[in-house]
Amino acid sequence: MVVDFHIHLFPQRVRENRGFFCSSDAGFASLYNSPKARMASEADIVAYLDQCGIDRGVVFGFPWESPELVKINNDEIWDFHEKTGGRIIPFAVVSCTDIASAHREAERTLKQGFAGLGELAFYSWGWTISLIESIQPILDVASHMKKPVLLHVNEPVGHTYPGKIRIDFEALVKLIERNPSVEFVLAHFGGGLFVYTMMPEINAIFSNTYVDTAASPYLYDQRVFATACSLLGPQKIIFGSDYPLLSLPRYLKDLDLANITADARAAILGGNAQRLLKIK
Ligand SMILES: [Zn+2]
Repeated sequence: MVVDFHIHLFPQRVRENRGFFCSSDAGFASLYNSPKARMASEADIVAYLDQCGIDRGVVFGFPWESPELVKINNDEIWDFHEKTGGRIIPFAVVSCTDIASAHREAERTLKQGFAGLGELAFYSWGWTISLIESIQPILDVASHMKKPVLLHVNEPVGHTYPGKIRIDFEALVKLIERNPSVEFVLAHFGGGLFVYTMMPEINAIFSNTYVDTAASPYLYDQRVFATACSLLGPQKIIFGSDYPLLSLPRYLKDLDLANITADARAAILGGNAQRLLKIK
């Protein structure tokens, strides 16, 4: 089974009126002000899955500042999940700026049957210590409901790009350490944080933590796959494309160049997601 764990869907009203939402949500504007930043429709996503032979797709929205828009985004993703007979696996976003509403939305969506929470991010401010600590009530819901949490984590160094935010790795490690029962998926190879699993104490803290591959061809050369396989083990790496930013074939090219074994490829491309999400 092939699973794409990282696909974005925006509400229809956002796709039809990007300018308005860029002026009302600074985090959204930081990523989608450029008309070159593509937004996919439900039909685009299904066509992508079909064309690339992908069995299931994990789809989620954007961590809007507005709790109302968060709910609209989640509800449209739930409809998409139902319309596709479950081929689309719904993750729920929450408003990271309004933790009380985020807590209610996390409870509402996970009780409804959403498979996890994410991709969570603070695109306007970055993951500072206080903001990282503020999401604890949301993590408590995920822990109680035994659902994974996908966090946007980018590199603290290197070139800048839309959506790249400041990340406090020390605070992030503490958050993971304080929540040993939460299965975290750190997007974008966790901003490279996995390299520190060579330190035994970090390796122990990462026992329930995965990374996804989203956008990696824009960030790393293909050695990231072999390095992550060596440090984390292939069972901790989950293929996610960040569609419509990129799609599966670009990642297959890097897996080929990196000489990843057939067993490891199968785990990365679907087996790990299948296990984490308990998909039959
Ligand atoms: Zn991201």
